[in-house]
Amino acid sequence: MENKKFRYKKGLGQNFLHNTSKLGQMASLIDAKPGELIVEIGPGAGALTKLLCATGAAVKAVEIDTEAINRLTEKIGRPENLEIINSDFLEVDVASITNGKKAKFVGNIPYYITTPIVEKLVENRQYVSKVFLTVQREVAERMAASEGSKTYGSLSIFCQFYAGVKLLLKIDKKSFFPVPNVDSAFVSMDFESAPQLGVLDTQLFFQLTRGGFNQRRKMLINNIKRVTGIDDADAREALKGAGIAETARAEEVSLNNFAKLSNLVYNTLRKN
Ligand code: SAM
Repeated sequence: MENKKFRYKKGLGQNFLHNTSKLGQMASLIDAKPGELIVEIGPGAGALTKLLCATGAAVKAVEIDTEAINRLTEKIGRPENLEIINSDFLEVDVASITNGKKAKFVGNIPYYITTPIVEKLVENRQYVSKVFLTVQREVAERMAASEGSKTYGSLSIFCQFYAGVKLLLKIDKKSFFPVPNVDSAFVSMDFESAPQLGVLDTQLFFQLTRGGFNQRRKMLINNIKRVTGIDDADAREALKGAGIAETARAEEVSLNNFAKLSNLVYNTLRKN
């Protein structure tokens, strides 16, 4: 896979995936259909792009690096159903790329901008059906974690609030060139299967969850009082109503129970 002509830019997170078996599995999980719009973030030399184009999908690939685009063109040519957009994905207008419709977003993305990319996709979720991303394995585990797991935290809550999240494939670091320092995983976010949580005040919900995980060793009750200013009796009542033990820490509380808790706290605040 080594290519002497191409200067890999570490600063742009350029670790190209060359494991054909993993690439094939990723493409079949993405399951692109003819005519379907697929937006690829950071196509690099086009290993996945080629497979996506072969499905007959309409592929729009957003790549920041002109040299990578040249490399992609050498490798896979310019299929008719491929449009390359030479931009920073964090700067593009998602509504205009998708023409205001929903698309699947895929990418083996640079790890240093995983959070801003996920946040941008969440903000633009009206244009996103599903997302498939290769990310650092530890981040994928945090995205998909459930209560009781060591990796469960604010990122799990944020992703799972908006989408059904699945860790689909583990990918060894040797599948990339240059070999990165960490292993990866392929993860999906399905915005069309987001849980129906019925949260009344999203801001309060995230204040409670983030506050709880920022002090994950402390009991949640202290955080509820600190964040909202409600008294001990009201905080105990809200925990009880949400089916959460008075001594619970954030990491033991499911997304669903956090939603119930934030609604009970919201009602208490409105009464007071
Ligand atoms: N998808 C290719 C693969 O699997 O081999 C390349 C993956 S490499 C980890 C990440 C790619 O994202 C690189 O081609 C890099 O130039 C590009 N990239 C980095 N920052 C970007 C940004 N802000 N917007 C768009 N592309 C970016």
